[in-house]
Amino acid sequence: MIDRKAFRSLSSGLYLITSHVGDRKMGCVVNTFLQVASEPPTVTVSLNKDNATTAAILETGRYAATVLSQDAPMELIGTFGFHTSADTDKFAACEYSVDSADIPYVTAHGLAHFSVRVTETIDVGTHYLFVGTVEESEVLGTGDPLTYAYYHAVKGGKTPAKAASYNPEGDPENSAAAAPAAADAAASEAPATGKRVAWRCMICGYVEEGYPDGLPEDFVCPICGAPRDMFERIEI
Ligand code: FE
Repeated sequence: MIDRKAFRSLSSGLYLITSHVGDRKMGCVVNTFLQVASEPPTVTVSLNKDNATTAAILETGRYAATVLSQDAPMELIGTFGFHTSADTDKFAACEYSVDSADIPYVTAHGLAHFSVRVTETIDVGTHYLFVGTVEESEVLGTGDPLTYAYYHAVKGGKTPAKAASYNPEGDPENSAAAAPAAADAAASEAPATGKRVAWRCMICGYVEEGYPDGLPEDFVCPICGAPRDMFERIEI
């Protein structure tokens, strides 16, 4: 049997994986970046085959990884995690740099950066596993790394459908009744007196409460940046 809940006990960090095709910079969020050997310094990362970033890595044979800090805002994670690089310049609103191989990497809210040359690409079903050698690494900042557990439990983060750890049977944090982010914790502790109106982002599943008459016109999803008209009314 496969008990999907078993996968929830695996721990990981959150990383931005970036590359480019010509002038177009690509990037996405993963929790699958990992050091697997010390000499030569070797890392792996798996990316969904449908990602624009995946296509860029297949073309250039290179990528950069930024280790996200715990203080990374959901807007940054949402931009890289819930949009496609095919139609969004994800680097437009964040600080970034370029390595000696011309690969862009995000410096904002990063603890470290690695530049990787891919040595092997393995087909693992929905994803490609890229094995590569680290050619550059640097410390970008201090603080605690953002773990996937912290992202879910404290930041109220969701798992996009193309993530390697996505659970097609549904995860608690991806449901309409998901535990709210820390900022909303007080409201959730109030005794239930009946159903409440809430608004669910149809892109990332984020649930906003507290607007029974409708979201403000300029409201955007704090996770993925989707505008108000991408929210549907639900009762919880
Ligand atoms: Fe959203």
